[in-house]
Amino acid sequence: MITIKSPREIELLKIAGNIVYKTHQYLKPYVKEGITTKELDRLAEDFIRSQGATPSFKGYEGFPATLCTSVNNEVVHGIPSNYRLKNGDIISIDIGACYKGYHGDSAWTYAVGDISKEKQYLMEHTEKALFEGLAQIKPGNRIGDIGHAIETYAKAHNLGVVRELVGHGVGTSVHEDPEVPNYGKAGTGPLLREGMVIAVEPMLNLGSKEIYILDNDWTIETEDGLPSAHFEHTVVVTKDGYQILTGA
Ligand code: MG
Ligand code: MG
Repeated sequence: MITIKSPREIELLKIAGNIVYKTHQYLKPYVKEGITTKELDRLAEDFIRSQGATPSFKGYEGFPATLCTSVNNEVVHGIPSNYRLKNGDIISIDIGACYKGYHGDSAWTYAVGDISKEKQYLMEHTEKALFEGLAQIKPGNRIGDIGHAIETYAKAHNLGVVRELVGHGVGTSVHEDPEVPNYGKAGTGPLLREGMVIAVEPMLNLGSKEIYILDNDWTIETEDGLPSAHFEHTVVVTKDGYQILTGA
């Protein structure tokens, strides 16, 4: 069921989203060669709790950590570990925070030191693909318009679009209806209405779109071993467009 949020709910979703944004800003200077993904996880959890919120992902369907940390060829749902970041890595950090029962969800991909031209290209165009999708959001457009814009942009830049994982509604649950795929046909799918809150999150691969899941039942990697990037914002549909909730 797709719900329309009340102004009071949108206020709480804004606070939750802003905590997620601040957690990203807090972590950014720590994303450097030598730190472990577990150390980043600890910093994030302490920060989220210091804001009066709780980590949305910890314990969600059994996920063991606050952050999803997905390095290089890992697409999403990487589990923080003793892996030490190396110069030249890229790391996608996905953060969810829950404030007074309402969630925010945002992922960003960061460069560790000096990265290759190919990784720079992947990061730049995955972020742009997110904003291509967001630009479609206004009442009267449909969910399919978002995915169509992302897929069209990704294909024009020769990037593989992961299909098995999709964006989603956000509210009192971190994953709600509707699904928001990163592909699709313009003019199809649920109608966007003022007060809907959704997370848009393209996951694009430098190579093919094919992925597989590791034996830990969480981490998803690209099949060809090439890098993947992930950019996500939670937004509210407004009267004439959208507003980012996981921003400043
Ligand atoms: Mg996320
Ligand atoms: Mg999400």
